[in-house]
Amino acid sequence: MVFQPQLRILISHDQIAKAVDRLAREIRTDYEDKQLLLIGVLKGSFVFMADLIRQLDLPLELEFVKACSYGARQESSGRVRLVQRLSTSIKGKDVLVIEDIVDTGITISFVLDYLRKKKPASLKLCALTDKPSRRRVPVCIDYLGFTLPNRFIVGYGLDLDERFRNLPDIYVVED
Ligand code: 5GP
Ligand code: MG
Repeated sequence: MVFQPQLRILISHDQIAKAVDRLAREIRTDYEDKQLLLIGVLKGSFVFMADLIRQLDLPLELEFVKACSYGARQESSGRVRLVQRLSTSIKGKDVLVIEDIVDTGITISFVLDYLRKKKPASLKLCALTDKPSRRRVPVCIDYLGFTLPNRFIVGYGLDLDERFRNLPDIYVVED
């Protein structure tokens, strides 16, 4: 039988859409005269990124990296590797990294360190959600959608064992 966890709605699609609008306004103002390159961290950020870019009427380019934390289920294992790296140079570009969630901060710190070595003109982070109470590595989030309590969430790109990424709202998985 397929495991059916209890899901409770935490953030509705309407609230998400308002946050995406606000973030897009902030980003548009800051990157008006820049060479904006958005780098999405797969897989979780793809839904957020798809909505965000359609609110950004700026010339921009897209790239993706894919980070994997070994043996992770609902916990980051603390060891990260990149299973998809950049296929193009980012030297001299204004890079904005798009992430779904910053939890312990281990994954995004690893990704930012990797990108910093490639000498972008600037490097900033936009995260849809943040769980600051879980932080183990300090992370500066330049553009943030929502601050969350210490609960496991799914939907709007975020998964539980690869399920629920397609839900339009964000849900808490009840224990
Ligand atoms: P960190 O390295 O910051 O601990 O974790 C980052 C990654 O762990 C995220 O990109 C995501 O894949 C996963 N993660 C952390 N918290 C959650 C959560 O509440 N829900 C889901 N679906 N994934 C999470
Ligand atoms: Mg992620």
